[in-house]
Amino acid sequence: MADGGNENVPDFEFVDVNSKEFHIGTFRDLWLDALHPEMYAHSDTAPEIEDEKFIEEIGVDSKTLEELKSICSVDSLKSADEDVETVPADSHLATLQLRKRRQEYRETLFRGTLDRHELYNNEEQMAYMRKRPEDLKDLVPEGEIVLIFNVMYPAVFQRFKQMRAHQTMHVLGSQKLSDLRDAISCVSDLQVFGEFSDTPDIVPQFLSKDHYKSAFFYFNGTFFNDTRFPECQDISATIREWARGREFPDFKTATMEDTYFYDLKLKVGFPYLFTHQGDCEHVVILTDVRLVHQEDCLDVKLYPLITHKHKGFTRKCSVCHVYIGRWITTNDALAPSDPCLFCDQCFRIFHYDNQGKKLGDFQAYAYVDPATYN
Ligand SMILES: [Zn+2]
Ligand SMILES: [Zn+2]
Repeated sequence: MADGGNENVPDFEFVDVNSKEFHIGTFRDLWLDALHPEMYAHSDTAPEIEDEKFIEEIGVDSKTLEELKSICSVDSLKSADEDVETVPADSHLATLQLRKRRQEYRETLFRGTLDRHELYNNEEQMAYMRKRPEDLKDLVPEGEIVLIFNVMYPAVFQRFKQMRAHQTMHVLGSQKLSDLRDAISCVSDLQVFGEFSDTPDIVPQFLSKDHYKSAFFYFNGTFFNDTRFPECQDISATIREWARGREFPDFKTATMEDTYFYDLKLKVGFPYLFTHQGDCEHVVILTDVRLVHQEDCLDVKLYPLITHKHKGFTRKCSVCHVYIGRWITTNDALAPSDPCLFCDQCFRIFHYDNQGKKLGDFQAYAYVDPATYN
């Protein structure tokens, strides 16, 4: 796609790694200039119109067209005999022998069933294909751009050498950065702070995301802060302060709720940053930018659209090994380990008498399992 003449046509900065930065809105305009509106229309061209165009373009009459259609149809590729799925064992043709070997190998790979996660992933993806809105005013406009982002697990969760994409999201060019921010789910938003061993029945409905609303995206030298709520602070200030006098270029700030993806200059494949809850940092990578086509979900209300979510394993209670952990205890003489994870039932049976009186000395914290959040 390289085009020395235009800086907004994506070109590699590092081959097969990331592109140079380009302006998303201008990139869209270039596509719209270059393409015939039919190419990105949401509706199929009627077959009769297609036939007419073909006749005009190639200069044949309609009788020849019918003849061509029957000669070139897929059916004419089939052999007259019935298709045999399994290759006969005594075949002397080398191609058939190869095919047979391949078939036998494939059978050894067959697992029988998809696991629950794979099944769900497939369903999730299929559900949104070609989805049209109930109300036409929610139809994604033709010529809209879709940006595909991989949002990684926060750094503290990266137990693997390779980074893992937690969520893949499709965002529209006309959406704001704050729309993407609201679609990113992270378990650190669901933490409940405090020690509740004396009052396990009144764990307050205090979720981090309701109280600590500050967040920013970092794209190409600018921190885009969330300033929608009075509690929001500029949490990029510490970084900018630190960078001052350390030979970094001057960083800029902007607000994410006033910035549309069309306004941005981005690099495809480049690691950017999303930070929330103080220091929960997610690498965010733009993996593709393209025009919306009719196979996409066309309901504006469903964007940002989550097309993939990595499903982790749940952590079970260390006593019954059946239920998902809900409590973590420390300094707990009754627990096999420190800290120790309990489900709600085991936690209460072990730590409180019939009157609900606390037995022994320990601290208890609410635990939110990252995988239950799927
Ligand atoms: Zn997070
Ligand atoms: Zn249990």
